[in-house]
Amino acid sequence: MGVAARIALLLGIAALLWLERKRPLRKPVERGAKRLARNLALGAVTAATVAGIERPIVTRASRIAVERGWGLLPKLAVPIPLKTAIALALMDYTLYWWHMLLHRVPALWRTHQPHHTDRDLDSSTALRFHFTEFLASIPWRCAQIVLIGVGQRTLSMWQALTFAEVLFHHSNLRLPRGLEHALAWIVVTPRLHGIHHSFVREERDSNFSSGLTIWDRLHGTARFDIGRDEVEIGAREGNQLQDVTLSKTLALPFERT
Ligand SMILES: [Zn+2]
Repeated sequence: MGVAARIALLLGIAALLWLERKRPLRKPVERGAKRLARNLALGAVTAATVAGIERPIVTRASRIAVERGWGLLPKLAVPIPLKTAIALALMDYTLYWWHMLLHRVPALWRTHQPHHTDRDLDSSTALRFHFTEFLASIPWRCAQIVLIGVGQRTLSMWQALTFAEVLFHHSNLRLPRGLEHALAWIVVTPRLHGIHHSFVREERDSNFSSGLTIWDRLHGTARFDIGRDEVEIGAREGNQLQDVTLSKTLALPFERT
């Protein structure tokens, strides 16, 4: 990512943090700095796992795929900007499938559940991922890269765009309804992703898209409304605040059921 893009991303994050405090969408369940510290700590462990293990492996997969001409993209005779757009869309689509698997396969849900046990939803939830989820995603990510044929530049672009969009749709930002409705035709918005974080199972089993909303509409998993004003955030009903401490969240994937 270039310096200008990095600065734009940082400014965007700062604006989002400021705006979600000025115009909150949901009332907080857990107040205070403890929750923020917990989410940052979980995010730091995951960031270290990504930097030390995930990134080197997926970068290598991308290099090998390009060197050997693997995947769909090298076979397409279209201009480079279009190729990049197709690659970004296909990475986003296959991420939709991965997210669905995280919810449907019990062993994978164990790794994704810590992300959902947060009783509130704001941009810090976007950092709250268990490191095991990222370890489990490595084979899938390598398959995405190799089958699509994604090069380094496009891969970093996709990673930056996905990160920005994940921060945005987890944020507690109350957008004007009309604007949000229009945006939701294209990308995942805070209200849409809030439904995915509901502790009501049928509501949680919707809105799996991370970037473009077309994938949910294509597969009938889109949900724009829940018929009530407030969505209760959490992994399950009775997901109590004492269950979401840092040590319990870290231990969650390894718990006996
Ligand atoms: Zn999820």
